Amino acid sequence: MDIYFYNTLTRKKELFKPIDSKEVKIYSCGPTVYKDATIGNLRTNIFQDILRRVLKYNGYNIKHAMNITDVGHLVSDGDEGEDKMLKSAREEKKSPMEIAEHYTKLFFKDLESLNIETPEIICKATDHINEMIEYVKKLIENGYAYETSTAIYFDVSKLDKYPILSNLNLEDQKAGARVNIDEEKRNPYDFALWIKAPENHLMKWDSPWGKSYPGWHIECSTMGQKYLGEQFDIHTGGIDLIPTHHENEIAQSKGKCGKIPARFWLHGEYLLINGGKMSKSLGNVYLMKDIIEKGYDPLVYRLFSYSSHYRNKLNFTWEGINATAKSLERLRNGYQTHLQGTDDVEDKIINEFESKFHQAINDDLNMPLAVGVVWDVVRQEKKSPKFAKLLEKFDTVLGIKIQQKVSIKQDLPQEVLDLIEQRKQAREQKDWAKSDEIRNLLESMGYEVKDTKDGMEVK
Ligand code: AMP
Ligand code: ZN
Repeated sequence: MDIYFYNTLTRKKELFKPIDSKEVKIYSCGPTVYKDATIGNLRTNIFQDILRRVLKYNGYNIKHAMNITDVGHLVSDGDEGEDKMLKSAREEKKSPMEIAEHYTKLFFKDLESLNIETPEIICKATDHINEMIEYVKKLIENGYAYETSTAIYFDVSKLDKYPILSNLNLEDQKAGARVNIDEEKRNPYDFALWIKAPENHLMKWDSPWGKSYPGWHIECSTMGQKYLGEQFDIHTGGIDLIPTHHENEIAQSKGKCGKIPARFWLHGEYLLINGGKMSKSLGNVYLMKDIIEKGYDPLVYRLFSYSSHYRNKLNFTWEGINATAKSLERLRNGYQTHLQGTDDVEDKIINEFESKFHQAINDDLNMPLAVGVVWDVVRQEKKSPKFAKLLEKFDTVLGIKIQQKVSIKQDLPQEVLDLIEQRKQAREQKDWAKSDEIRNLLESMGYEVKDTKDGMEVK
């Protein structure tokens, strides 16, 4: 079945065909590991995971690279301010390496909790310093870069077209002095490839330009090319990356080898909180930890993210999460009911549902529509293991662990959730007496407790 993706590069939905007929090569801009990943950041990771899973559903092998930015991302995207890693290291009184390790670990824990597949290639900026230097040298050699007393800049006036990905208005940029802090820059919108380090700068490396460190965009161009080639199939990221980071990645790649690095550029929209921005000052920055601490299965957030298409904004509310928790429970219960059903269903009906689901996911990852088909199957009056099998197939894309038996009702009072947790721990420690004691207590409170091979069921 044909696959269509909306390509930011051409601003239209296009038929997708990979360069290699069997394997799709994807590059995703990964996290800057200087702080916890928010549920906003993770929305983008869920979208990228869906992309992988949909391509696999269509029979493709995947070679997916994701970088870890552990140097070079300045506080402002306009080559200003401190390196985000250094700022965090200073504030937390740790070394940049400790900061990077700490937040990288937490990031992967979040991905795991959301059942997000780990990309085949994970590459760190600081492991590719020499290759980045070679890349910059080649850009100078090709006439696309020049040195000033503070940095090596990319000369965007050398390109036949800039910008090409975004609606970036260069006149506006020129008017705002933001991009033009270095008087030696030839054009206000030239961007830093490599930055000469001040004397007391913490992260710096030897280079032909003295002790220095990379600009933010060069890492993705270097690692993308190294692992996926000069041109690969799909490049992804959050929508905010279009006008600077991705625009400049394209500039670098054109300067080095004359090619736009990816044929398709897919961008995920933002997550809003109660209709507005997520920000520290508003005290509404939520992490996966906050969702889990309230007793929700982390996959509730994954399912919640399907309520909006990845190119539309998604509005987070706790009411929405609560309602989705119930939906997840109903979907999983619905799967179990079909599994135990005895009705016969014609293959034609199964195929029709499969085809509807397949069409939805192949139409630019239309998850809201695909989830609608899932509900139609769950709600079928006839109960049949054939439907259960179909739901298992759908779940290779959904990733909501539909086969998992509902173990904890999300609207249980905190007191009950605490007891369930204590009983789980007692059972892990094989303290059967305590486990029974807690079960009795729960039953005396009016809750039914059943132990199944998939865990504890409390009703
Ligand atoms: P940051 O750590 O803020 O630089 O964000 C890392 C990446 O996560 C960004 O480049 C965005 O693509 C993505 N991102 C940040 N905030 C949100 C949000 N509220 N919703 C969706 N994606 C986001
Ligand atoms: Zn990137």
